[in-house]
Amino acid sequence: MAYETIIGMEVHAQVITASKMFCGCSADTSAPPNTHVCPVCLAMPGSLPVINEAAVRATIRTGLALHCEIPPHTKFDRKNYSYPDLAKGYQISQYDMPLCVDGWIDIPDGEDTKRLRIRRVHLEEDTGRLIHEGAHSLIDDNRSGMPLMEIVTEADLRSADDAWFYLTKLRAILRYLGVSSGNMEEGAMRCEANISIRPEGASTFGTRVEIKNMNSFRAVRQAIAYEIERQRALLECGEQVHQVTVGWDENRRRTVFQRSKEYANDYRYFPDPDLPPLQLERVMVEDMRRQLPELPDAKAERLAREYGVKGDDVALLVQERQIADFFEATVKAAQGLEPQVVANWMVGELFRLLSEQEVADGEIPITPQQLADLLMLLHKGAINAAAAKEVLAELFHRGGSAEEIIRRRGLRQISSESDLAAVVAQVLAENPQPVADYLQGKGAALGFLMGQVMKATRGQANPQVARQLLMESLEGRRHDTEE
Ligand code: ADP
Ligand code: MG
Ligand code: ZN
Repeated sequence: MAYETIIGMEVHAQVITASKMFCGCSADTSAPPNTHVCPVCLAMPGSLPVINEAAVRATIRTGLALHCEIPPHTKFDRKNYSYPDLAKGYQISQYDMPLCVDGWIDIPDGEDTKRLRIRRVHLEEDTGRLIHEGAHSLIDDNRSGMPLMEIVTEADLRSADDAWFYLTKLRAILRYLGVSSGNMEEGAMRCEANISIRPEGASTFGTRVEIKNMNSFRAVRQAIAYEIERQRALLECGEQVHQVTVGWDENRRRTVFQRSKEYANDYRYFPDPDLPPLQLERVMVEDMRRQLPELPDAKAERLAREYGVKGDDVALLVQERQIADFFEATVKAAQGLEPQVVANWMVGELFRLLSEQEVADGEIPITPQQLADLLMLLHKGAINAAAAKEVLAELFHRGGSAEEIIRRRGLRQISSESDLAAVVAQVLAENPQPVADYLQGKGAALGFLMGQVMKATRGQANPQVARQLLMESLEGRRHDTEE
């Protein structure tokens, strides 16, 4: 039987703020364990929380970027559960009045796009971090009380690919806004996938399973694919799917049972009496909406329209805001150069160099001016494309200026016909066999002879001029032999 997959995603993203969610402790994530703690985030009796305005604003901005409504009233609730990473015995979260509701996000769908509904975005506090070492379990409370956003979709995703596109797009938006690093490997973005399958054409959803502990984009794809197959196998032999929470086991490449599903009433949610409900002024929200940066979709549309760059390249250029900014700055600095040429060099060579090197996301070790200068020299014919790649690699690894590197390394292109004519004559004289082959109609011999010219000039010959001269000399000889 054919089945359809139904997926809803819950994403937790650490919010970038100076201090924690309800206390003045530093939110620096790189500090040694248990150095950023105080009575509030250690849950000492009698300590009182205070709401971090910056975290509230970051969450509202996220909601606005996801086309959510921002209801005028919101509050924080206690979610009670006992677990060693939660010193208070409850987590301050939001239950029935989240900061943001009813939004959407578009993801690629073949040539088209498809719209996923965002059910809610709410704000809560993170728990401490448990570290299991042999027989011991350690706790780092630096993370306790850090601001955390939760973004929940409706069950509108239909495949592992949808989940991948959704997470990619969501992460790009979070990073454009500067509200979260979105780094999954570091746990700054953590996601859970709720999955069920149903016979094709059915109108109700099947029983869902929630998968946790997916620590990379790749893990999300694999875990979802695995879970879909597991459920299909169960249904096909007449068994039932039970509503449970499972964890993804990276090493064994399978999901493992964690616990039976908990329900809202297990948590005994109630409004936190230590925190005031918030009233969100409309003027403030509208101000924040106006101040949103240009987001990936709008930027992609504009880059394609303003610069005529190809769709595939645009999609790659807008993934990181810094990359898109770098592209525009380079186009501006490289007066008269086709923007598509800049795009080609960025998506090709620059991305290759970036991927080979361990650099922080979005950081580029050269300036737009350096790339623009190099591409202008290439455009003017001062160097050929092979030399330009070498120069770019040196700029990337050691810095400097394109002019200086070209001079020092003697990479200037030889375009003068008289200089090249001598080289061509010599190559033809030294290679009688390939010349004869060419004259007998073996076109491939031309490639060999070109290679010899490039070798003789240490790669500096202008390929167009060299090829032209070679062809002319060879055709001249054909004439001589025919006469
Ligand atoms: P909980 O609060 O128990 O986590 P929710 O009802 O809030 O459950 O749903 C969590 C996520 O699960 C949402 O993204 C929702 O769209 C998704 N979801 C709900 N039912 C199903 C289902 N049958 N199959 C797949 N996803 C589902
Ligand atoms: Mg859940
Ligand atoms: Zn604290």
